[in-house]
Amino acid sequence: MNMFKLSDEHQAIFELARDFANKEVWPKARELDETARFPSELFAKAHQLGLLNAFVPESVGGLGLGVFAHSLIGEALSLGSAGFCTAALANELAAVPVILGGNEAIYKEFLAPMVDEPHMAAYCVTEPGAGSDVASLKTTAKKAGDKFILNGSKMWITNAGHAKWFFVLAKTDPAAGHKGMTGFVVPANSPGIIMGKKEDNMGQRCSDTRGLTFENVEVPARYMLGKEGDGFRLAMGAFDRTRPVVASGAVGLAERAMLCAIDYAKQRTTFGKPIAEHQAVAFMIAEMARDIEASRLLVWKAANEIDAGQRNTFTASIAKLLAADSCMRITTDAVQIFGGYGYNREYPVEMLMRDAKIFQIYEGTSQIQRLIIARHLLEQ
Ligand SMILES: Cc1cc2nc3c(=O)[nH]c(=O)nc-3n(C[C@H](O)[C@H](O)[C@H](O)COP(=O)(O)OP(=O)(O)OC[C@H]3O[C@@H](n4cnc5c(N)ncnc54)[C@H](O)[C@@H]3O)c2cc1C
Repeated sequence: MNMFKLSDEHQAIFELARDFANKEVWPKARELDETARFPSELFAKAHQLGLLNAFVPESVGGLGLGVFAHSLIGEALSLGSAGFCTAALANELAAVPVILGGNEAIYKEFLAPMVDEPHMAAYCVTEPGAGSDVASLKTTAKKAGDKFILNGSKMWITNAGHAKWFFVLAKTDPAAGHKGMTGFVVPANSPGIIMGKKEDNMGQRCSDTRGLTFENVEVPARYMLGKEGDGFRLAMGAFDRTRPVVASGAVGLAERAMLCAIDYAKQRTTFGKPIAEHQAVAFMIAEMARDIEASRLLVWKAANEIDAGQRNTFTASIAKLLAADSCMRITTDAVQIFGGYGYNREYPVEMLMRDAKIFQIYEGTSQIQRLIIARHLLEQ
């Protein structure tokens, strides 16, 4: 494909998602931030438009869209609300290990219904004592005949309160480190799952984040993904596909902040002229555009590589790192351009700045991305 020009199909997907985000999501963004409400009506509409759960394989009736298409959807939805985008794309994060490790029977049972209904799903890896250091997680899955018995706690799980099913990473052989981990699909209504309260987060507040506990939860062995010991590979392998998409959400949010900053800089006057005509302000806007363009190109490169069947761990980490760090700086500069008004809830940029922070934390912190990138370079 031409990396610098979208195909007609990709252009159509992007425009559809962007129009929806601009017309239906962005006007609600402040209300969603204030109420921290999970916008079921917007998920239903996104689903109707083919923008939610578009990853479901064609073999079970889905659209089977790849990572590149999802990165276009991510950028567009985040122009409307980064929290809405995160929740929508968390379904993809949960589904990728299922697509990678599941069989047709699992696809039919868990993925196919996502085509007909705006079902949500959640990726349950992080624990109270294990975030960046995934190998130290404590949740166990003990084999008992044709079942596994799950025990443990997960933390910070996006979509947990609305999910129909979970991807859960647990230790089947606690002595074997990351090689002793196994992934499972777990129906959300399984007895023994105790749901925590919705977390009161700094930003992306309409996204539902919770802890949950498994107390002797019985999981049929047929819901195991791949074989015993495959879990770490599946859970981490998912990031090659989802990091470019998460990075695209940071690009969309940064773009929204830049648009707000441009509008404001043209109409706010100081010293007899619009602040846009003060070089210090204009240069901040120029640097926003520079970093948005660079991040987007890296997202496209990482997405294109994985869709082409190439290893993209390095590029996916660079894309996520640059997009997340740029988004944080761009939204902070947008607040700066608004001056005192930027610090006030009457204007949107303080919300965008709060929404930006999580991009440097979830799906591998910016420090972890640097570790991955450095390791790749130093081990060659
Ligand atoms: C809103 C939200 C949504 C989330 N959604 C999900 C989800 O759906 N599913 C899921 O499984 N998880 C989810 N997470 C968890 C998220 O992925 C973790 O919070 C993240 O990976 C960091 O882990 P931690 O919070 O335990 O921080 P820690 O790992 O304790 O890190 C703390 C700090 O130390 C730094 N650090 C740690 N190790 C190193 C190192 N080796 N070198 C340098 N610096 C290091 C980190 O970069 C960070 O700055 C979510 C978190 C939030 C807040």
